Amino acid sequence: MITLKEVSKTYRTKDGDFSALVPVSLEVGEGEIFGIIGQSGAGKSTILRMMNLLEKPSTGSVIVNGQNLSQCTPRELRVARRWIGMIFQHFYLLQNRTAADNIAFPLEISGMSKKDREKRVKECLEIVGLEDKASSYPAQLSGGQKQRVAIARALATEPKVLLCDEPTSALDPQTTGSILEFIRDINKRFGMTIVLVSHDMEVVKQVCGKIAVVEKGSLIETLDLGRRDQQP
Ligand code: ADP
Ligand code: ADP
Repeated sequence: MITLKEVSKTYRTKDGDFSALVPVSLEVGEGEIFGIIGQSGAGKSTILRMMNLLEKPSTGSVIVNGQNLSQCTPRELRVARRWIGMIFQHFYLLQNRTAADNIAFPLEISGMSKKDREKRVKECLEIVGLEDKASSYPAQLSGGQKQRVAIARALATEPKVLLCDEPTSALDPQTTGSILEFIRDINKRFGMTIVLVSHDMEVVKQVCGKIAVVEKGSLIETLDLGRRDQQP
């Protein structure tokens, strides 16, 4: 589902070039929950953000669902991103919009009609179990609820892939457990391919079938935990 071929990243900074990632190749299969683990600054987010081209690779190619994103026009990339959802440590919800309107946001951008949007938002609120919070603003929600709204927003466009950047790092242990369980649920229920970045081995071990270990800008190891409960 996702192939990185010899992908590297050099950031241009005011102090000169900084090599955040030496060429990395990896393959995430359809329906897998794939973990990327390593210490802070290792290059995990950089790898994840290249999977939807939020970060442009300096070399190499990024192929998602058969499409070479590194060669897409801006217009093609906008279309491709509809089937790549993403969630973040700090949720990044729009504070002046309700939960329902946050979820509707990507659908507005994609040009969906108001009637279809309302239907889809309702479905997404049901998926994350927050029907009763449709009219709440982010400030009125707990951390776990905010992450569920962010997940619902990511699912709105029916993506094939969900990219998760430290999705539980701002949450307490109990809420972390329930969000991880939920991530596993949507993997099973929709056969969705999931990539999960974390600095916490416990988090990654709980849900991931395969794990890439990143250290100082290189991929040093890929582990197969041999889980059989994930989609083919
Ligand atoms: P991780 O997710 O493992 O914590 P990142 O991928 O965020 O690591 O960062 C890898 C390295 O690249 C770090 O040293 C970080 O400081 C650097 N870096 C990340 N983004 C930028 C940027 N936009 N400009 C310059 N350096 C960056
Ligand atoms: P948690 O301990 O899980 O983070 P909170 O204590 O933040 O949960 O919230 C518990 C409940 O109170 C949630 O259902 C949330 O929607 C509600 N809530 C939290 N903050 C507010 C607020 N500022 N206004 C209204 N409801 C709130």
